[in-house]
Amino acid sequence: MTTEHGSLLPYGAHHADLDGKVLAALERVAQSFRALQWQEARGHGLTPLQLQVLVHLLASPGGAYGSHLARALGVTRATVGEAVATLMQKGLVRGLRHPRDRRRIALALTPAGEAIAAKVSAWGEAARAALEEMPREERATLLLFLMRFISALQQAGIVTVARMCVTCRFFRPDVAPGTPQPHYCALLEQPLAVESLRVDCPEHQPAVA
Ligand code: SF4
Repeated sequence: MTTEHGSLLPYGAHHADLDGKVLAALERVAQSFRALQWQEARGHGLTPLQLQVLVHLLASPGGAYGSHLARALGVTRATVGEAVATLMQKGLVRGLRHPRDRRRIALALTPAGEAIAAKVSAWGEAARAALEEMPREERATLLLFLMRFISALQQAGIVTVARMCVTCRFFRPDVAPGTPQPHYCALLEQPLAVESLRVDCPEHQPAVA
């Protein structure tokens, strides 16, 4: 059942409830992004999941395997397989054979798929421009907060995939406090500024709890 604000969550932004307001604000942002996604998907005769596959493949220039897509999008392999089959029929996605193992087929965009994914991704530019209006320190604090929040949601079983630095066994936080690159990645053997922290790193390995 939804609330009077159309929210599925049992909180009210009008009460003096800090946590409720944080959740309401996060949901408002998520709703806006979902609505834009629906609008774009409908405009191209696609489902939101099919659109997400295209956008994800745009960010994976070397191609991506079905299992990776399913994990990243939080759906089953069967579900992603159906979306990919439709996208292939529409000529938006193609298969790439692995150079050494011809049984493995990665998925990549066709030029038509790339054109749609690039156009759809452009809406993010407006959000990026709005963020750039905010002071850098506030954006850095927001990024760290969101990463910790997602990590907590993952521990609670609410978020299934979060390949972020803060949950990675190679992450060494605050090894050089007060410097521009306070953190360190023990795998890449390089210091990390806050803006270099990754939210979806292919090399991520979960830290042992
Ligand atoms: S491997 Fe990736 S996720 Fe892990 S610390 Fe290094 S950059 Fe971050």
